[in-house]
Amino acid sequence: MKLYNTLTGKKEEFIPLEEGKVKMYVCGPTVYNYIHIGNARPMIVFDTVRRYMEHMGYDVNFVSNFTDVDDKIIKKAMEEGSLAEEVAQRFIAECKKDMAGMQVLPATTHPLATQEIDGMIEMISALVEKGYAYAAADGTVYFRTRKFDGYGKLSHKNIDDLQAGHRDIKVAGELKEDPLDFVLWKPKKEGEPYWKSPWSDGRPGWHIECSVMAKKYLGEEIDIHAGGEDLIFPHHENEIAQSEAANGKPFSRYWMHNAFLNIDNRKMSKSLGNFFTVREVSEKYDLQVLRFFMLSAHYRSPLNFSAELMEAAKNGLDRIITAAETLTFLQKSAPACQTTEKEEALLKDAHVYTEKFQAAMEDDFNTADAISAVFELVKYCNTHASSENTKEYLEKLYDQMRTLCDILGILLEQEDNMLEEEIEALIERRQTARKEKDFARADEIRDLLLQKGIQLKDTREGVQWKRV
Ligand code: AMP
Ligand code: ZN
Repeated sequence: MKLYNTLTGKKEEFIPLEEGKVKMYVCGPTVYNYIHIGNARPMIVFDTVRRYMEHMGYDVNFVSNFTDVDDKIIKKAMEEGSLAEEVAQRFIAECKKDMAGMQVLPATTHPLATQEIDGMIEMISALVEKGYAYAAADGTVYFRTRKFDGYGKLSHKNIDDLQAGHRDIKVAGELKEDPLDFVLWKPKKEGEPYWKSPWSDGRPGWHIECSVMAKKYLGEEIDIHAGGEDLIFPHHENEIAQSEAANGKPFSRYWMHNAFLNIDNRKMSKSLGNFFTVREVSEKYDLQVLRFFMLSAHYRSPLNFSAELMEAAKNGLDRIITAAETLTFLQKSAPACQTTEKEEALLKDAHVYTEKFQAAMEDDFNTADAISAVFELVKYCNTHASSENTKEYLEKLYDQMRTLCDILGILLEQEDNMLEEEIEALIERRQTARKEKDFARADEIRDLLLQKGIQLKDTREGVQWKRV
């Protein structure tokens, strides 16, 4: 399995720290509103990375935080006349609904920044003790950036260039030793939530959160750290500085970053009026369509969101689901005997598409090519599956398609709400089977209906059914 590592600037073979296990941390959203479709991109792509790794047999410990204390949350609470905590709780719940709609699996742990303040105070204290951090007179604690050798190694920035960029920026009231230093702890302002600390009543800076949560839930050294490309600098660069200075160990072996999602070829922004929440999209589309759309491009390529492209994604997804439904439909009346020799040969040919899919995923999670392989399989099923085939053959083709779609997080079975006509048709088939003394087949149909929540009752007047 190869993945592009931002740290080395190369595609590398993935070698986990511990055989068979993956420790992965993905920076989660700041919860002050419904998540927007840009936030959905890292959620979907890294969920797919996780699904693929699990499919390959890895035990993945997947941690993704919610930033539940921050200036934007506090501002929103003030506007509403509520508490930051209430705002955060509400939007975490809404975010989880959106994630479920997009088939993003819940993380192994979803830590909240506000629940990890002790760990943050501990790490900041360790940094102060080691001389990597200092408290200013106003109770702010800063990281001493220049003291950390290797600052800039992730973003491939030279510290002196960064210094030059900062030269003119002087923020009033700041008591930094050096303009490059960044905040680890900040004193509260009037009306803000705060926690007690050795330096001031206040709250942590954003970067320290992730260093602490990754350490607590995954350990000092992790396999993969991921997020959107805007996080490379300064967020992830600062996380490396904090974690490596505090722990004295390399932090993450691989760093993965998704490119941005644009709208109609422009940066998404509220001021341009081209800003969409996932919730808004869900009013028009099943969120599976959004997921499928996101995976139609490689995660490191910029992706453009437009009405036409969403329609194309919807049509593509429909094609896959229709092919799967056809296979299910054919299975219902197919003879329950073993695959024929000819079918075995066809299944062998169909396996080529799984191999193509796999090769695409092994090459830095190229979901665009993986989806092409699924389409090829769909085409193959449409030409090589008919009412002439055995049940076993049809099942095997279906399973092949389902395995690939599971990795992509695409559900093939829709909520099963059988229509009356479908139920009646199956009952009729069961009656025919009974007349022909094919009781095994008749029982199979009865069981299938029961699985779908339809119970049959044989009466003198005929077969009655009810939903259970
Ligand atoms: P935030 O809530 O701004 O911290 O963002 C949460 C995650 O969404 C981060 O990984 C960001 O990099 C990512 N993100 C934000 N906007 C976009 C976008 N337009 N396209 C792709 N990813 C984004
Ligand atoms: Zn983070």
